Amino acid sequence: MKIGVIGCGNMGGGMVGQLVAAGMDVSCFDPDTSIQAKMDSLGARISDTAKAVVAGQDVVILSLPKAQIVEAVMTEIAADIETGAIVLDTSTSTPSTSQAMAELGQKHGFDFIDGPVSGGPAAANSGTMTMLLAGHQSAIDRLRAVTDVLTAKTVMVGASGAGHAAKIANNMLCAANLVLVAEAVRMCEAAGVTAEGLLEGVNAGSGRSGVSEVNFPKWVLNGAFDSGFTMGLMRKDVGLALELAQQTGVDLEGFKGIADLWLETSKDIPDTSDFNEITKYGANT
Ligand code: NAD
Repeated sequence: MKIGVIGCGNMGGGMVGQLVAAGMDVSCFDPDTSIQAKMDSLGARISDTAKAVVAGQDVVILSLPKAQIVEAVMTEIAADIETGAIVLDTSTSTPSTSQAMAELGQKHGFDFIDGPVSGGPAAANSGTMTMLLAGHQSAIDRLRAVTDVLTAKTVMVGASGAGHAAKIANNMLCAANLVLVAEAVRMCEAAGVTAEGLLEGVNAGSGRSGVSEVNFPKWVLNGAFDSGFTMGLMRKDVGLALELAQQTGVDLEGFKGIADLWLETSKDIPDTSDFNEITKYGANT
């Protein structure tokens, strides 16, 4: 199978490595020259432009920073995508962008599938991501050889846009749980309970979450803060949740204060920091 990958950073680069290792013919485009050298060393072909990378490909994978960039790149490449090809967008984007890109695909004769992912760079580098898929089932079935290489689990969420809506909700919950588990730890430490003792109790009970089971032991309590997912990307996702709620007319009463905390801490915790650093906020304030 011939695959083009556009955007080969932390996540896209990991996917390229897995696809090459699986024996697929992979071509890449990323404007960052240091990333081009890295992809070359993995055994992928390097293209100079996004337009050049899509010609002749069965599947085009996008792993781009945000929806506006997905739209700009798709507008540039739409006419060069092969008839019958499939574009799999693994970026964390928006439902409205996906729906618009699916319509663009109908005009040009290709399928556009939402495929946002979870698991971070470690999962991208080991082919164990979780992917939320949405769009035409027949195209998703034809992607099976690719999703089998990249993921440990896929979930079919619904029609075009549903994958990105579900991903935004997932990250909204993760953002909220990071703030709430950090507060629970501070409260219990003040009451004489260790963080380790508390988490063992929570993880055996109904308060457990991905944050209490994975983030705190893996990246917070040991001071590692090296998950590969940045404050900037989570702030983007918090903004996407507020935007989706506004578009759908839903009041996120409970989430608003937590969203403010993520967005207003940028002078203390820069966008380049690990997203788990939000748990430090409030520790000495
Ligand atoms: P990244 O910044 O490491 O990679 C993005 C890449 O896109 C960069 O290499 C950049 O040079 C490239 N790029 C920017 N503009 C481009 C353009 N016009 N054409 C081609 N390439 C372009 O980001 P990442 O962490 O790999 O995240 C990628 C996407 O995956 C984001 O939407 C993010 O929200 C999502 N995501 C990230 C994680 C994570 O843990 N890092 C987890 C799940 C989902």
